[in-house]
Amino acid sequence: MAMSCDHPDLLPLETALQRLWEALPAPAWAEVRAERDDPATDRASMDGVALRAADGRQPRRLLGTLFAGSDPAAFTVLPGTAVRIMTGAALPAGADAIVPVEQLRQEGDIIHLAVTPAPGDHLRRRGEQARAGDLLLPAGTPLNAARLALLAQEGRPVPALRRTRVGVASTGDELVAEPAPHQIRDSNGPMLAALARALGAEPELRPALPDDPPALAAALRQPGDIRILLTSGGVSMGEHDHLPAVLADLGAQILFHRIRLKPGKPMLAALLGDLLILGLPGNPVSAYVNALLFLPVALARLEGRAFPDPWRRARLAAPVKHKGDRPLLHPCRLVDGRLHPLPGKGSADLVTLAQADACAWIEPGGMEAGVKTRWIPVL
Ligand code: AMP
Ligand code: MG
Repeated sequence: MAMSCDHPDLLPLETALQRLWEALPAPAWAEVRAERDDPATDRASMDGVALRAADGRQPRRLLGTLFAGSDPAAFTVLPGTAVRIMTGAALPAGADAIVPVEQLRQEGDIIHLAVTPAPGDHLRRRGEQARAGDLLLPAGTPLNAARLALLAQEGRPVPALRRTRVGVASTGDELVAEPAPHQIRDSNGPMLAALARALGAEPELRPALPDDPPALAAALRQPGDIRILLTSGGVSMGEHDHLPAVLADLGAQILFHRIRLKPGKPMLAALLGDLLILGLPGNPVSAYVNALLFLPVALARLEGRAFPDPWRRARLAAPVKHKGDRPLLHPCRLVDGRLHPLPGKGSADLVTLAQADACAWIEPGGMEAGVKTRWIPVL
């Protein structure tokens, strides 16, 4: 049976995400090499005493104490002696083993051992993690917290931990604070600002913009101190959906417009100079789902992190019917690890979205109960 195909030209979600990723500049990370041996000296890996293993279990006379950061040149461990030593302290000359404090008994300045030490016990050897000059991170390695710590360890500049600034502006003449029956409040603005914040950005919620091309153009030309602008509404096929034409007039580079996803077909992404515009559809569930999918990719790229994979996997507790030919993201409740589809009423149904804790990926044609599918948490 031939499958109906109402939108053969629409961009698949993964292609759109990849296109966004590639259009944005990643910070240029140079390769990182070890500045010095790691560790730079033999170190204690436990609190205890440093001594010569060759003296066996005979009692030792304590010479003093070395702390992390103490210069070990203060002591030389001769036969029959030992130095108290704390984790991370450099090993003094003459010592070749640590006996942990748990295996010691002290009488005055004499310590008695409960074990026979062996050379190398409880030591981190100089260079055992890396040798000076070793390649620690190849050029262009995406950053994460551990790699950032490595930059700090090697004395390299650590990128500013400033959150990416994300402007949020709804569009629509229908958005007012005290709506008559033919009007609504701006729910997308606060939703998208909260989502941007949950994703680690610094949101700036702006007043809604009117469906007026000159006003939209002015707002885009003077975006203020933001790296990303999230708009909602005005990207569909209606007579007041001005954003694509306004962006084109301003000379913006349209990365894509219209994707193969339900809800969210009108999704748009564009670059206007350095500013990324994610033009989200106006319907609340569409705006939400698309921000949840596209914003993490943009943030990760701009902040030098790896391409994010937000998907988790679980089985459907009930079937989801879906006749369209676009994949569907359907609101679900997650109970005992299974996805319970909610009886959602489509892309305008904020009431159902607010009850969901997951959006499940439903293939065109629908999916049966018990089938494993991917899902994304509702933040
Ligand atoms: P649009 O894509 O601009 O035609 O908007 C699609 C639908 O989403 C319309 O019913 C709008 O009224 C609604 N909508 C647009 N913006 C918002 C918003 N900020 N908050 C809630 N609903 C909105
Ligand atoms: Mg509108």
